[in-house]
Amino acid sequence: MRANHLPDGRTILVSCRPSLDGGWVDVHEDVTDRVQSDKTIERLAHSDLLTGLSIRHHFLKTLGEALDQPWHDASLAVLLIDMRNFKRINDTLGHESGDHVLKAVAARLAQLIGEGDSLARVGGDGFAIIKAGADRAAAAEFAQDFCFAVGSALDVDGQQVDIAINVGVAVAPSDGQTASDLMQRAEIALSQAKAAGRNQFALFDAELEASLRERRDLETDLKSALELGQLELHYQPIMEYKSRRVASMEALMRWKHPTRGMVPPGIFIPIAEEIGIIGELGRWAIGRACHDALNWPQHVKVAVNLSAEQFKTDDLHIVTHAALRDSGLPPKRLELEVTETLLLSDEQRTRRTLKRLKVMGVSVALDDFGTGYASLSYLRSFPFDKIKIDQTFVRDLPRDGDCNAIVRAVVMLARMLGMRTVAEGIETVEHLNQVVAAGCDEIQGYHLSRPVPVDAVPGIIADCEERLSAAA
Ligand code: C2E
Ligand code: MG
Ligand code: MG
Repeated sequence: MRANHLPDGRTILVSCRPSLDGGWVDVHEDVTDRVQSDKTIERLAHSDLLTGLSIRHHFLKTLGEALDQPWHDASLAVLLIDMRNFKRINDTLGHESGDHVLKAVAARLAQLIGEGDSLARVGGDGFAIIKAGADRAAAAEFAQDFCFAVGSALDVDGQQVDIAINVGVAVAPSDGQTASDLMQRAEIALSQAKAAGRNQFALFDAELEASLRERRDLETDLKSALELGQLELHYQPIMEYKSRRVASMEALMRWKHPTRGMVPPGIFIPIAEEIGIIGELGRWAIGRACHDALNWPQHVKVAVNLSAEQFKTDDLHIVTHAALRDSGLPPKRLELEVTETLLLSDEQRTRRTLKRLKVMGVSVALDDFGTGYASLSYLRSFPFDKIKIDQTFVRDLPRDGDCNAIVRAVVMLARMLGMRTVAEGIETVEHLNQVVAAGCDEIQGYHLSRPVPVDAVPGIIADCEERLSAAA
């Protein structure tokens, strides 16, 4: 059997069969229609019905084939395009309008690509383009054009619909030489572009990928850190100036990573918050701190930092109660430190939890006061026992008259509201003298002691009390 493709477009199938009388019969069959419909079926199988564009699977095949071509001098760019606000369009205007928008965006993209380029719809509101022969500079220019031309308002049934896109670009061979590498890297670039805002594009950046990978590794390791006993609490003294005694020891979490060494809480606490394990870490910290404090002189409290995330569940007071009960530490020896971010949302639940903690006899301090979102109205929202004036004010005290004025004003305000004040970050005698002159009740900082491991706590308490008394 043989297929003959005629110049007029017809396809004739020729088969040759023996006849009963020993001869041969040639059968010529016109199969043009069948061939056409097979082709249509094949095309439909790898096309998106709505936009008529290739689908992801076919796009990847095309990309693989393009990458298999000998390189010559040419490079190739993959651009991933994502609509920022499609879900909102769909939800507010309905699916029919959503479909209309997708078709219109596909048409805008199709108009912009050149001959030899490929365009596909690779997700609900995602498109991809193979730009043949484009190096990084050309791909960037192209992506910029896209953002400009595609990300503008569209008329849908007489209504102006706002369209915004992001474009992520990866270029072969520098960013990858296989279809999956290039797609993955364009995806990374796309997430960077999304973070940059409306109608922004980004080229894949190897350094960025390294930092994302590092972050992922940290996340994975952090998930097992507690179980593997890699977390510790160190303690830093907070002294009451007037009595020259240690008022409390602040528990500061440390992560002893097997290969990275000591990871500071400024790095891993935000990760723990994001991946949803801060509750578990916080529960451990409060339990550990209460147990440790039992071995210290009775006048020394233990202060534990809480993350705003820990207030999002209903069990913080239960966790605190359990830590006190299990350790036998009197509630008045436990102090909890919260930051202003907690008060930003001003949720009823937060206030309820804070009240429950206070009713239990635990004291509550407002940490890092004056940074970020400081608003005096927060001081009215809850009767804090203490305000910790952030170290940034203390650091600049010697040079900056404004800082001095702020510290004095906060001290005065706190007094009127019946709250005590702590100055954080006392590093020098000068700092110490200035905050004392400003009227701060308590002091904390490297000048007294850095945070130390639990074993060193009794020694540090005695040493600090002795030194401060001697200096008086
Ligand atoms: P923070 O609660 O304001 O703790 C004070 C931070 O300032 C500590 O940093 C401490 O080591 C540092 N510091 C103390 N004195 C001085 C000084 O004189 N000079 C300077 N430059 N720094 C000083 P650290 O231990 O790195 O902790 C950073 C932050 O991480 C803490 O700030 C707190 O917000 C958070 N954190 C620490 N442990 C925990 C925890 O168990 N749970 C939660 N949720 N957060 C924690
Ligand atoms: Mg603190
Ligand atoms: Mg602080």
